[in-house]
Amino acid sequence: MQCEFMEFESLGRTGEKVPKIGLGTWKMGTYPEEELKAIRKAVEVGMRLIDTAEMYANESLVGEAIRGYARDSFFLETKVSPSHLKRDDLIRACKGSLKRLGLKTIDLYMVHWPNPKVDIAETMAAMEYLADKGMIRHIGVSNFDAEELEAAVHAMKRHEIVSNQVEYSILVRGIEGDGTMSYCRKNKITVIAYSPLARGAIFAANQAALVKELQKSAAGHGKTPAQVALNWIIAHKGVIAIPKASQPSHVVENAGASGWRLSPGEIGRIDDSAVMVDALARRTKPAMGTVMPLVSLYTKMNEIKNRRIKRIIKRGNKRTGS
Ligand code: NAP
Repeated sequence: MQCEFMEFESLGRTGEKVPKIGLGTWKMGTYPEEELKAIRKAVEVGMRLIDTAEMYANESLVGEAIRGYARDSFFLETKVSPSHLKRDDLIRACKGSLKRLGLKTIDLYMVHWPNPKVDIAETMAAMEYLADKGMIRHIGVSNFDAEELEAAVHAMKRHEIVSNQVEYSILVRGIEGDGTMSYCRKNKITVIAYSPLARGAIFAANQAALVKELQKSAAGHGKTPAQVALNWIIAHKGVIAIPKASQPSHVVENAGASGWRLSPGEIGRIDDSAVMVDALARRTKPAMGTVMPLVSLYTKMNEIKNRRIKRIIKRGNKRTGS
């Protein structure tokens, strides 16, 4: 399935092309019927890269959404929780994700967060084992800064790290200043920008000047402010964006962020108008001590939430006879 206006980016050094705009699914799982439509719409409009995670507790929803599509019509990425980075835990976690997704192979499997309590060499060796076994096609990381990336890259023996999923938007630009972006560029590691709409903050009242610039560029291109904000991200070489949209209309709108380009002048004016929060973002990067109890809680909720999603989907399927 192709989409004429979707732009593509090479994934790491693999030569494989992934769309510049994919779909995020964090917080999906509450309204499965609408969310199923949104995920399917993404595949249909060419945003065929779907991002989920063990921790999101919605892999069964994503699995149901992609069921029935030809295997090459979507690119599925998921992440192992930082509480499962020891070898046996990681292998078990991957098998769980494969089962919930209903897949034989995950296209891109990522370490969700670094966990300093587990030796990165053990984690990356387990990731390589999964790739050797064909359970995953590509290996990536998430929330790794340049130093953490360097350690992970050096731990690899037979495969490469193809991507780093990090927060990046007009407002949150920590990766530009702390060396992460330049490390990725130099080493041909694709940056997967998460929270590309800053979770809606780009449209907030305290960003009046930015909103005005986004509106001005949007009017000039016959686009919307959200499309402009996403175009700002994908204008960067080696960077793709994964906006979350549980409303199918938002999915269609976001796909339209691709296939055209803001001018350098417009990008400059957008940059000048934004009240950035990157310093804040770096400061709030949570310490593992604070995150781990939350991670355990999410992991416990995972099965309960996935079971609930399955029940709702089953009821819906009975109703529609599918
Ligand atoms: P986001 O994509 O910046 O923002 C999502 C919000 O924007 C949702 O409320 C969505 O509404 C709204 N939205 C989407 N398209 C819109 C449009 N065209 N116009 C107006 N509003 C629009 O935030 P995010 O969910 O934090 O980040 C995206 C994805 O990145 C996540 O879903 C997840 O897959 C990934 N992520 C990864 C990590 C990590 O640690 N690796 C962390 C955070 C996020 P509706 O849902 O109502 O459509």
